[in-house]
Amino acid sequence: MENADLFNFLKGELENKGIDSSSYEEYWESLTKHERSPCPLCFTQKGVKSSLMPLPEKGGFEPVKCEVCKEIFYKPIP
Ligand SMILES: [Zn+2]
Repeated sequence: MENADLFNFLKGELENKGIDSSSYEEYWESLTKHERSPCPLCFTQKGVKSSLMPLPEKGGFEPVKCEVCKEIFYKPIP
């Protein structure tokens, strides 16, 4: 799996919200490494295949922002 760090973080974000992450996990595993990371909220809540754009690192985080719902996920830098 590409970018397992980011995936595990986003999966945790879904679980924190009480959202089942299994379909998102299947979708993630079907992606090629050239595709961008999909937004977990758009995919699980709306069935939309959106992309996450990396934002500049800030204060120990590597944030990514969804192109569609504009949600920002603050992933801690390992
Ligand atoms: Zn989104």
